[in-house]
Amino acid sequence: MKYISTRGRAPSLSFEEAMLTGLARDGGLYLPESIPQMSAEDIRALGGVSYEEAAFRVMRPYIGDAFTDDEFRGIIARAYAGFGHAARAPLKQLDSGHFLLELFHGPTLAFKDFAMQLIGQMFEFSLKRSGKRVCIVGATSGDTGSAAIEAFRGLDAVDVFILYPHGRVSEVQRRQMTTPVESNVHALAIDGHFDDAQARVKDMFNDFEFRDGVRLAGVNSINWARVLAQVVYYFTSAVSLGAPDRKVSFTVPTGNFGDVFAGYIAKRMGLPIDRLVVATNQNDILHRCLSTGDYRPDGVAPSISPSMDIQVSSNFERALYYAYGQDGNAVGQVMDELKAGGFTVSQGALEALRETFDSGRCDEDQTRAAIRATWGASGELLCPHSAVGVHVAEAQRDAHVPMITLATAHPAKFPAAVEEASGIHPPLPARMADLYERDERVTRVANDLSAIETLIKERIAH
Ligand SMILES: *Cc1c(COP(=O)(O)O)cnc(C)c1O
Repeated sequence: MKYISTRGRAPSLSFEEAMLTGLARDGGLYLPESIPQMSAEDIRALGGVSYEEAAFRVMRPYIGDAFTDDEFRGIIARAYAGFGHAARAPLKQLDSGHFLLELFHGPTLAFKDFAMQLIGQMFEFSLKRSGKRVCIVGATSGDTGSAAIEAFRGLDAVDVFILYPHGRVSEVQRRQMTTPVESNVHALAIDGHFDDAQARVKDMFNDFEFRDGVRLAGVNSINWARVLAQVVYYFTSAVSLGAPDRKVSFTVPTGNFGDVFAGYIAKRMGLPIDRLVVATNQNDILHRCLSTGDYRPDGVAPSISPSMDIQVSSNFERALYYAYGQDGNAVGQVMDELKAGGFTVSQGALEALRETFDSGRCDEDQTRAAIRATWGASGELLCPHSAVGVHVAEAQRDAHVPMITLATAHPAKFPAAVEEASGIHPPLPARMADLYERDERVTRVANDLSAIETLIKERIAH
């Protein structure tokens, strides 16, 4: 299996190379050259197997000769061993025909653990084999950084540096980044906003001398291996509701479009998905784009679902690639227009997007009301991101097709917003109840590229 860039002007790579590289050299994102198919028989056969076995069967055709079957099974087993629920991604019923897919039983209580735990194990395996080390640097508004630190802590071949905006992440998110004791983990609190952290990380990738010197690697949500890991739970949940013999729809709380794009891949592999509903908070650029065709960032308004406070939705480029008939030049052109302020999706491409995707938006009051109403009706406490999904799903439901809403984080990760909406303080799961007592270790850094680079070089020299 070869991987090609959405902009068509970068060399094609193997799975392992695409995983270790992240972004293509032409600025594009990697996608498989063709999408492997699962027959109705293959899908039916997922009924009753473990999550790990389903993960092996769904992902195996994508990885080529990167790992043997035994190696890959071992990687998957280690990735999900630390989850707090035997089903890994349990499905709960909210109402007749509406189900909640709980993706928050991983070690940092957000769905990002599904992908990050897997790529942590894949990186470790592949680097040990080649005898190389890498230095992972990432920026986070909270969930990605905690998931990355948890996935790479204590691994021999990796140092991990995470920049988060000082004072702007939730206490649980911060503690998940600052309490791991392993010496290869470095939490850096930058003076500035998330955008500053993100910009400094981009600068480091563009500083080729530094980049090559420390062997920089990226694990942000554009990494294909992360998207792939998320395809699995679309299969397991749909099969438990009767796929391939019954269609299902999904509603996905969306920011960078990674999670919902994984659903699109599942559909193209043969899973009978009826609708994929993109749910946004008040930062609704994706909803506006799917409604009008116009994609024009106009500033982020901070919300109580901060992991979706995004205006430049990086994985949307992958959906555009298919919507434009796999024309890399057309994708390159709209991305150039985006740099100049925004773009309008062509009529043909917009129709192609709408064949699969619906969308909806949920404002702050509606988010709080959804937390309250769901608590009252079913005793389920939703995190604000999942509440955005439930609100939009309720508006878009079709009586004939079951709807699965993805619950992307545990309510205890965002306790203040949940308590304000419902009056209930969500407790941390028992396995991490001592989080508030553990010692924190963090380095405060100025918003200054050379100071950050110097610090990283010093740290990895030891
Ligand atoms: C990252 C995140 C999202 C958005 O996921 P995307 O793949 O970026 O669309 C939603 N909810 C939570 C809790 C997250 O951490």
